[in-house]
Amino acid sequence: MLTECPTPVILLKEGTDTSQGVPQLISNINACQVIAEAVRTTLGPRGMDKLMVDGRGKATISNDGATILKLLDVVHPAAKTLVDIARSQDAEVGDGTTSVTLLAAEFLKQLKPYVEEGLHPQTIIRAFRSATHLAVKKIREISVTVKKDDKKEQRELLVKCAATAMNSKLIAGQKEFFSEMVVEAVMMLDELLPLKMIGIKKVQGGALEESHLVAGVAFKKTFSYAGFEMQPKRYDQPKIALLNVELELKAEKDNAEVRVKSVEACGGSIQTSVGSMTDDVLGRCEVFEEVQVGGERYNFFKGCPRSHTCTIILRGGAEQFMEETERSLHDAIMIVRRAIKNDSIVAGGGAIEMELSKYLRDYSRTIPGKQQLLIGAYAKALEIIPRQLCDNAGFDATNILNKLRAKHAQGGMWYGVDVNNEDIADNYLACVWEPSIVRINALTAASEAACLILSVDETIKNPRSSVDGPPGGGRGRGRGRPHAH
Ligand code: ADP
Ligand code: MG
Repeated sequence: MLTECPTPVILLKEGTDTSQGVPQLISNINACQVIAEAVRTTLGPRGMDKLMVDGRGKATISNDGATILKLLDVVHPAAKTLVDIARSQDAEVGDGTTSVTLLAAEFLKQLKPYVEEGLHPQTIIRAFRSATHLAVKKIREISVTVKKDDKKEQRELLVKCAATAMNSKLIAGQKEFFSEMVVEAVMMLDELLPLKMIGIKKVQGGALEESHLVAGVAFKKTFSYAGFEMQPKRYDQPKIALLNVELELKAEKDNAEVRVKSVEACGGSIQTSVGSMTDDVLGRCEVFEEVQVGGERYNFFKGCPRSHTCTIILRGGAEQFMEETERSLHDAIMIVRRAIKNDSIVAGGGAIEMELSKYLRDYSRTIPGKQQLLIGAYAKALEIIPRQLCDNAGFDATNILNKLRAKHAQGGMWYGVDVNNEDIADNYLACVWEPSIVRINALTAASEAACLILSVDETIKNPRSSVDGPPGGGRGRGRGRPHAH
């Protein structure tokens, strides 16, 4: 036991929110609304982008919910939960990060009156869990599966999924070009679809359309030696020696990357000396080339036999723009990988949310009491997705939502927002598709986050652990300072 420094009895710093119970819950719910406000306008194909500038003046333009929230540096403990689910959505399925944040915040918003009324959080949580369970079951039931055996059909589906993911991004204008490229890239991988085998290299300058896919490994030229200008710039069927010896001083990071990718792609094994260079330790590829890409020299190893690897060479103007393009391609690549792994899709543009909303509202009418109201609240919250898509496009959301409700009541299950004509449309036929897993994950995560926030009715902050807390009397900081004893 540490008895020298007794734990202070005052748990909360002055000025900290000291409320407990219902007021604490309400304050947490309000904090989450602020988070949702930050990303609200980025949702969908007509969403806006955010320009964020950090403390060092580095600017980032993004439309991606997870990226925006990460850069916001949220400190509110409850609101942080929303940042976390956006992040985990990004890691697990790579898309739907704005949706998951909006859904969680809207769940809480719809529940606020019940919390204020004093309804016990556990009652609410129970209703929400069962609603999520039903919704997920419904998605599984109505999602459309595309046959894998028909390669042509599968490819078409994948291109459409990739294009939908790009609709809301800066590169939407080039979505045909890039969706083909993304699908081609993913198709080159082996069965496990390892993400790291798709390299993305950004080369500033040139038009976006000059971006291209290299079947193999590509990296900035790292070898130069005396008289290299005279050497041929292209070799057919070369043998490749992978040497872990310093031919030239280079950034270790570059080297490591080159090494990993080349070994996996070309075969052979890494040698530490040139003494025993037998055939079996050498790698191979079809063509080695040194090529000028923009202002850089690049080395290409094409047609690598062993592994399935490729590199996307991205061209374009401003650095921020290229970074956002890279993120958008990453989203699309994730979507395509998901769609190959689970070939089941639903219609987007709010269609799936409207259908689930209708289903849950109908279901809620069959059960009595508070649970009916709560499941009704869940159903209402789902409408935030089509509503926000309308708002962001400048449409009259109430009008469109009324049309959608009517259509879904008549059995038009795939009707959603038509962002081009200020109307509703069958988004399944319009090819606004999303992998079911993105929606399932978003719903589950959003509802779990809402439940988590509801189950916290007090925040206890340890003043010692906070950075701006009272100075610790120099304890632990004296290291290195000369102490006179
Ligand atoms: P998220 O981070 O949640 O993926 P996005 O900005 O990518 O956010 O927007 C996704 C939403 O936009 C989804 O609900 C999707 O169905 C919808 N969407 C995408 N393309 C279209 C389209 N062409 N028409 C209508 N809705 C679309
Ligand atoms: Mg998206």
